[in-house]
Amino acid sequence: MNRETELARGGLPALDRATIHPFIDATPGPFFYQRMAHPVAAEAERLVGELEGGHALLFSSGAGATTALLLAMLNPGVTVAVAGGGYYGSVGLMRELSRWGIEVEEFDQTGEPPVADLVWLEPCSNPMMTFPDLDVAIGQAHASGAVVVVDNTVLSPVLLRPLEHGADFVLHSGTKILAGHHDALLGVVTCARAEDHVRLHAFRTLSGIVAAPDPAWLMLRGMKTLALRVARQSATALELARRLADHPAVERVRYPGLGDPIAARYLDEFGPLLSFDVSDADSAARVERSLQLIENATSLGGVASTLESRARYEGVRVPPGLLRLSVGLEDVEDLWADLARALGG
Ligand code: PLP
Repeated sequence: MNRETELARGGLPALDRATIHPFIDATPGPFFYQRMAHPVAAEAERLVGELEGGHALLFSSGAGATTALLLAMLNPGVTVAVAGGGYYGSVGLMRELSRWGIEVEEFDQTGEPPVADLVWLEPCSNPMMTFPDLDVAIGQAHASGAVVVVDNTVLSPVLLRPLEHGADFVLHSGTKILAGHHDALLGVVTCARAEDHVRLHAFRTLSGIVAAPDPAWLMLRGMKTLALRVARQSATALELARRLADHPAVERVRYPGLGDPIAARYLDEFGPLLSFDVSDADSAARVERSLQLIENATSLGGVASTLESRARYEGVRVPPGLLRLSVGLEDVEDLWADLARALGG
């Protein structure tokens, strides 16, 4: 069945907010207490699991999913190698865990991963937009004994299915393109192996890092249009990346669709996210203040385009003039008119 049809067909489960369901014949059924499992999340997990080709679990946020995955899978004394230029919150969390004896090393994911117990890749890293040679990097990581996690937040399973390239886990901030409307905070981990799913599910129940029914339901509704949104957002992002690359006020554009040969081997379309540099922090702030259509706001993957300077959070980790743009569903000419006006040209 065609992907759009598959996602759009069928109804949605009832928004069942019950925290308890009665036992059946004095025995707890599959849903008896919401922290263990609930019907809306179970349906979302079925759908994401099917799309990614593994066993999915929902969490209260992408950061919550990262916390659960790291704490469930790691022991004191291990080393984590994480893609440099990727989501600063994931790296920040890993550095926080160094207090529990976990060592963290950032590395250039376009090259060979260092020897580690866990390798964390982020194709189309947010916001530096690097892309690893997944088959090679995952093969090298496995050969040195590492478990591999791929954060697939930026691309979604519509564009990339990391488990098919050998990843052990795929992580999503469901808050972003999966839910897609800037109205639900969620995370997802999809496990390649059933036994890891069992272990992570047990940890989720114990830790309580669970998704509530309402955001899970919103994600399910959002996913009905996932394939269409990704296609449209990717096409618009590519066009804007090309135009930005020709703009005199723009020093550099990062978008794998602009000729990254490795990304082109894995992807037909390149997703909603790009970043570009203006000359300095003041120029970046001027662009932020001048926008009239694009929201000067954080996050990514929603139907409304958002743009922000990342240096305010990430400091010297990114160039001072770096602006991150997440392309939504607005008309490409309207978006370009807003960008061109804000850039002064
Ligand atoms: N991974 C990536 C690539 C992200 O961009 C984010 C959030 O920006 C996260 C994980 C964390 O997700 P959440 O904000 O849902 O906790």
